[in-house]
Amino acid sequence: MDQRTEFDFIVLGSGVAGLTFALKVAPHGRVAIITKKNRAESNTNYAQGGIAAVTSKEDSFELHVRDTLEAGAGLCKEDVVRTIVEEGPARVAELVDLGMRFSERESGQGQRELDLGREGGHSKRRILHAKDVTGREIERALLSAVAARPSITIFENHFAIDLITTEKLGFGGPNRCLGVYVLDKRTQRVKTFAARTILLATGGCGKVYLYTTNPDIATGDGVAMAYRAGAAVANMEFIQFHPTCLYHPKAKSFLISEAVRGEGGVLKSIDGAEFMEKHHPLKSLAPRDVVARAIDSEMKRSGAEHVLLDITHKPAPFLIERFPNIYNTCRQFGIDMTKEPIPVVPAAHYQCGGVLTTIDGETEIAGLHAVGEAACTGLHGANRLASNSLLEALVCAHRAATKITSEPLPEIPQGLPAWRSGHASNADELVVVSHNWDEIRRVMWDYVGIVRTNKRLQRARARIANLQAEIVEYYWDFIVTSDLLELRNIATVAEIIISSALERKESRGLHYNLDYPEPSAEWAQRDTILRRP
Ligand SMILES: Cc1cc2nc3c(=O)[nH]c(=O)nc-3n(C[C@H](O)[C@H](O)[C@H](O)COP(=O)(O)OP(=O)(O)OC[C@H]3O[C@@H](n4cnc5c(N)ncnc54)[C@H](O)[C@@H]3O)c2cc1C
Repeated sequence: MDQRTEFDFIVLGSGVAGLTFALKVAPHGRVAIITKKNRAESNTNYAQGGIAAVTSKEDSFELHVRDTLEAGAGLCKEDVVRTIVEEGPARVAELVDLGMRFSERESGQGQRELDLGREGGHSKRRILHAKDVTGREIERALLSAVAARPSITIFENHFAIDLITTEKLGFGGPNRCLGVYVLDKRTQRVKTFAARTILLATGGCGKVYLYTTNPDIATGDGVAMAYRAGAAVANMEFIQFHPTCLYHPKAKSFLISEAVRGEGGVLKSIDGAEFMEKHHPLKSLAPRDVVARAIDSEMKRSGAEHVLLDITHKPAPFLIERFPNIYNTCRQFGIDMTKEPIPVVPAAHYQCGGVLTTIDGETEIAGLHAVGEAACTGLHGANRLASNSLLEALVCAHRAATKITSEPLPEIPQGLPAWRSGHASNADELVVVSHNWDEIRRVMWDYVGIVRTNKRLQRARARIANLQAEIVEYYWDFIVTSDLLELRNIATVAEIIISSALERKESRGLHYNLDYPEPSAEWAQRDTILRRP
């Protein structure tokens, strides 16, 4: 293991965004990938549906652009959408060159072609997938390519705490990122990393909510760190709730992919009646926000704790072949999707906003880039089109790496101050940490969820402010642990989501406020941008 902590490039996160960027800058210098658990653990690893990209003759860039703009409800940046859509196929081809295996099917006369999936909001079949474990296959391909690059060192179980900036160190001039403080979870020591440039690829923030499809790593650390460092954060009110997470007391955040509806799955209430035709002409394949709200209202109407997703009319061998992961996981919980409908509920899934960046990943702080779910480029607008996020991460990681390596970079900063740690460790305080974790997630679920009101948002703001005051009180005295660091981050991200939601006085895409149920012309094409006060 490389003990030095000075690198040309530091990458925070080992999902699709971080790994893609690391591979692209690797020929230009030494790269550190810092990741808080094991190297594959990321939202990427759990992606099921696939990557949206135009690869078939029946499809066109124009249609993909149109579908993305439509889902984004008037808030996408069209030039960003167009570039990402048009550069997608080349990036997907690079993944294939690295050894990524997408599912194929017979196209007749012994030929094979990509098995393109269909998902909600897409007017064509355009989702490249590896059965229903696309993300796992992406991580496998990228990590094996990274392993073959001696200039890349991966620091597993290393938790990025805070960015080191010129502003924080009291230097004059424009703010510049110089490095990052990182907790080595094994030794409990905080190391100081320095680099010419730093990439935030820390993913999303599903864990801010009580119910989520995201794994435990998704605590919005990158957004919280960038906000504390003074970067602008945009459109954080737009949290996508996936309509269909498996409902079972023992199933922790297991997603039932949209592709199940794409292949004919139908939503039904618990008494077996279809209800989506009341809400949208596309019925079960309506955009995610419409489906999530329809399920929410159906559950409120019936008092049931879930609805049903029925695909039993499809042949069992097809379902077992197409959805092996979903089939086997459901079986573990005693549900046979070939014979009975799957109980499902909505859950927090994707953060459409993030650190405000250009399409090349530049933030407002020099030397700090952000890519992937942690960033807000303007692709998703007010609602992400399914499977556009892996695409965005691939394209923007490539663009960021290309731009950074084509420009002269500053020297690696020297003599950055060491972290000053608190010393107290009081077992009584641990209960405060776990209690506050639960409280934040419940407040966000109950008051800042799929359907919002001003009153609930204000109530949430007051609660989160109290919790934050409590967290700050003991943060500086105690030895930092990853639980405490994540708690501080989810509290910050919760505050940002609530403030953004209160600022947007309309309903648009994923942000639905009963006090302003319609979109407003005044807010069209206007991002919600927050900076640290
Ligand atoms: C269940 C599920 C299914 C999905 N299906 C699809 C799909 O089919 N198609 C699609 O396009 N999108 C899908 N998504 C969304 C997509 O997977 C993510 O948006 C995308 O993978 C994000 O990639 P990323 O590299 O930005 O972040 P991630 O893959 O989440 O990686 C973040 C990395 O940062 C690390 N990290 C975070 N904080 C810190 C810290 N403080 N210090 C050090 N390391 C840190 C994490 O450990 C992780 O390695 C799905 C998401 C989920 C949860």
